[in-house]
Amino acid sequence: MLCNICGSKKTSLKTETQDFAYSGKRFKIIKCNNCNAMQTYPFPEKTERYYDTKNYDSYNTKTSFLGGLYRLVQKINVKYKLSLLKGEGPKLLDYGAGSGFFVNYANTKGYDAFGYEPVNKTKNSRIYNKKTDFESKKYDIITLWHVLEHTKNPVKLLKDFKKTLKTNGVVVVALPNTDSYDNFIYKKHWSGYDVPRHLYHFNKASFRFLVKKVGYRIVKTKPLYFDSFYVSMLSEKYKKNPLWFIFGFFNGFLSNLLALYSKNHSSIIYIIK
Ligand SMILES: [Zn+2]
Repeated sequence: MLCNICGSKKTSLKTETQDFAYSGKRFKIIKCNNCNAMQTYPFPEKTERYYDTKNYDSYNTKTSFLGGLYRLVQKINVKYKLSLLKGEGPKLLDYGAGSGFFVNYANTKGYDAFGYEPVNKTKNSRIYNKKTDFESKKYDIITLWHVLEHTKNPVKLLKDFKKTLKTNGVVVVALPNTDSYDNFIYKKHWSGYDVPRHLYHFNKASFRFLVKKVGYRIVKTKPLYFDSFYVSMLSEKYKKNPLWFIFGFFNGFLSNLLALYSKNHSSIIYIIK
């Protein structure tokens, strides 16, 4: 199998997992021995069918306790995410905008924010459904909050952004981290794999490789502290642990604690230019 990030043929099996969220279908996680990037195998032909048909937007539709927790964290996270962009702007494109939560928030804070969302179509006039709607415009900031891992060709996408980015513009990429403690603990049950919606799985080394390959450099990295809790709780659910809340909370906490030293948080935000 060929690594889509670096082109190497030297790959190995990392783990076998399944779509715990919807279809139950089994997939392999293949690791590139050269650049460390991982891919979901086989690539699903039509990824759309694996998104909740009504409104995927991550776990937004679930009225469960975990869904409520997700929405609470989402509110706290948008503030945190925007605080990392101080001094950049005002023209912002949120690529993979979902229902437009981040776009709407950014607009209330003085940004001129737009979004792109091909899967989850909304009536929001600031959310484009077609790439041609934004490709002719220029942005100071392009954000991909847990989106790059869903895309078929991250190399091409990041290269293409150079045409859409102003001089000195930044791309902000948030990704699950395969070197995190929660990945190590949960292995095939790690909800950060989220196959087959996630087609790629990165750690710091493989993302750095990708960034360099497409002619960017990493200017800043920041953790997403809540993701370790959310990912751990969901992973416990996938393991069918009735005490998922307690175990998930504990491992989420431990993941953040260990990351103080390892710097391998459950999810990492990279600011690249
Ligand atoms: Zn590779």
